[in-house]
Amino acid sequence: MPTYSAPLKDYQFLINHFLELDNYNDVEGFAEARALVEPLLTESAKLCEEVLFPLNRVGDTQGLKYKDGTVTTPEGFKEAYKAYVEGGWPTLTWPTEYGGQGMPEFLNMPMLEMVCSSNLSFGLTPGLTHGAIHAMMLHATDELKNIYAPKMISGEWSGVMCLTEPTAGTDLGLMKTRAEPNADGSYSITGNKIFISAGEQDQTENIIHLVLARLPNAPKGSKGISLFVCPKFLVNADGSLGERNKFSCAGIEHKMGIHASPTCVMNYDGATGWLVGQPHRGLPAMFTMMNTARLYVGVQGLGVGEAAYQNALAYAKDRLQGRALTGPKFPEKAADPITVHPDVRRMLYTMKCFTEGARALAIWVAREVDLAHRHPDEARRTEADDFVQLMTPILKSSLTDGGFETASTAMQCFGGYGYIEEYGAAQYLRDARIAMIYEGTNGVQAMDLVGRKMTFETGRYLARFFHPVDAFIAEHRNDPAMAEFTKPLKQHVKYLQQASMWIGTMGFANPNHAGAGAVEYQKMFSLVMYGYIWAKQAALAMQLKDSDPEFYAAKLATARFYFAKILPGTISLLASITAGADPVMAEGL
Ligand SMILES: Cc1cc2nc3c(=O)[nH]c(=O)nc-3n(C[C@H](O)[C@H](O)[C@H](O)COP(=O)(O)OP(=O)(O)OC[C@H]3O[C@@H](n4cnc5c(N)ncnc54)[C@H](O)[C@@H]3O)c2cc1C
Repeated sequence: MPTYSAPLKDYQFLINHFLELDNYNDVEGFAEARALVEPLLTESAKLCEEVLFPLNRVGDTQGLKYKDGTVTTPEGFKEAYKAYVEGGWPTLTWPTEYGGQGMPEFLNMPMLEMVCSSNLSFGLTPGLTHGAIHAMMLHATDELKNIYAPKMISGEWSGVMCLTEPTAGTDLGLMKTRAEPNADGSYSITGNKIFISAGEQDQTENIIHLVLARLPNAPKGSKGISLFVCPKFLVNADGSLGERNKFSCAGIEHKMGIHASPTCVMNYDGATGWLVGQPHRGLPAMFTMMNTARLYVGVQGLGVGEAAYQNALAYAKDRLQGRALTGPKFPEKAADPITVHPDVRRMLYTMKCFTEGARALAIWVAREVDLAHRHPDEARRTEADDFVQLMTPILKSSLTDGGFETASTAMQCFGGYGYIEEYGAAQYLRDARIAMIYEGTNGVQAMDLVGRKMTFETGRYLARFFHPVDAFIAEHRNDPAMAEFTKPLKQHVKYLQQASMWIGTMGFANPNHAGAGAVEYQKMFSLVMYGYIWAKQAALAMQLKDSDPEFYAAKLATARFYFAKILPGTISLLASITAGADPVMAEGL
């Protein structure tokens, strides 16, 4: 049976040291947040380990029931959601005037990961609600916010994001759902949406749909799409629930993983909705909240990867097969544990490099999201926002690719038992796969990176990464103990700059060169970025080693593995990027 234990020590290290929060004592809410770290970590771990995790397998095996437009979640999910809401978890980061606690995003990150590790299907509903609240906060009128935000923030109502249609997935410009104005200022929405996560469920008393649709005479394509808020139950003037709105769930999808998360076909038959933001500006409105939404989806990959790694490690320490190549390590036993085998160690270290590197990246980006909104200095706010813009596609793709690869590697560590459902590795692999697809496929993230982020104001965003890395290398230039990290880091940064130049110039001449190398560039960027993260963690491990010798020795060993075995992957990626578009665009498919 799988187990899960929240990575509290790593979070303490990241929050107390890696984030350098002492530099940000003047940022609104940071000091209060730091005082809450310990109780929050303890309480979130308790809920995730004791309530959500035991339901993970129940959700996978029992799945959802659909009947006559209603969806019933698996046993225990309703009660678990109630416990999540009663604990005040959905309110953590939202403004106090709407019932939130006004805390920074970085403080939310541990709980977010733990929920995804313990029960990804459960986590989707609150995760989507977070995205929907964000869109409302940024674009809805005060009147709409007052009606919807407090109940969505408390978690009593959920929010869902309705973009996809049968013929409009990545290309939302093809969408057909229509919105006709009514005399009272509302709109009648008619159309068909598919793949709507938690479009219908039994955990909340109301479900607030944010629906993209076209107004009459809207321009064709993506510039003619507007955003509407469309509640399952209309809300009376006194805030009570009124009439059932005219939309329904026509069915749920049978899918590879996340069996307890309803993926709904939704029909809107003249449903009443209200415009959010400007007419025809629905897509930019949706995209302004995408950074946080993509950060959240990235953390899904991290969460599942962490759970898969923990179980593979425990199994590998226990499983006796063969003898160490250099002679028996445990001669008194029938065989050595498989952790003596170099290849098993390679797999375990690869997974550890991913989970600890990804966790550091996620919380670092979360801190920058906070600084972009809260820092007193405008220049620092801009810098933080630029960094978040650059990192969003990298984070979404590297964490979700890494989560799936880690789940697959974990299965390999289990050998044949990994393929047998009761060990849990198979569920992690199935659950992790979707995160590479939704919220913009990872291929589309790569196009965003090379097409928009890399080229923005001739490298303004890129500089937000290269400058701090150069400064770090310069800061440790005279430290011989750090040379094993800073020297190769400098070299791999050069390779990345070379790739950036190549894509910038060749892609300008022929966009297929940029398209053909985009995913490799994204992977290369991720490798170098994790190189920086691991070098930074190594520097901290050297400084702090006496405070917890075992923990910091493990950090240092993992950093060394990363530099020796993973970072050199940039060289083959550079070769592949500079091979250009010809091999890809050749006739032959
Ligand atoms: C379980 C699940 C839950 C979901 N939840 C939601 C939800 O809550 N709300 C919602 O609105 N949607 C949701 N979706 C839909 C999801 O976001 C889409 O499936 C996704 O955006 C991809 O669209 P598509 O499936 O139509 O694929 P397509 O757009 O048809 O893409 C097919 C392939 O072509 C590639 N491709 C397409 N266009 C380009 C391009 N311009 N450049 C390069 N490559 C390209 C893609 O990367 C992909 O590999 C969900 C889907 C699933 C499976």
